[in-house]
Amino acid sequence: MNKMPRKRPIKLRCPICKKPTKAMHTDFPFCSERCRLIDLGKWASGAYVISSPVADTDEAIRQDSLDEEDTP
Ligand SMILES: [Zn+2]
Repeated sequence: MNKMPRKRPIKLRCPICKKPTKAMHTDFPFCSERCRLIDLGKWASGAYVISSPVADTDEAIRQDSLDEEDTP
């Protein structure tokens, strides 16, 4: 059926400068502390927008259903 050989050598690269890194590295997955700090800075400045206000919406829905139960 679907027999895809999955034995490729995994090449790990620093997500910042794309240099090859080692999994044993202290700053893994980054090649150096410098790149790790750059990545941290990206998160802090909002360069990565991943966390959308999903939790807020969920809470709003929960509150709505609670209100319905309270008011007959
Ligand atoms: Zn790097």
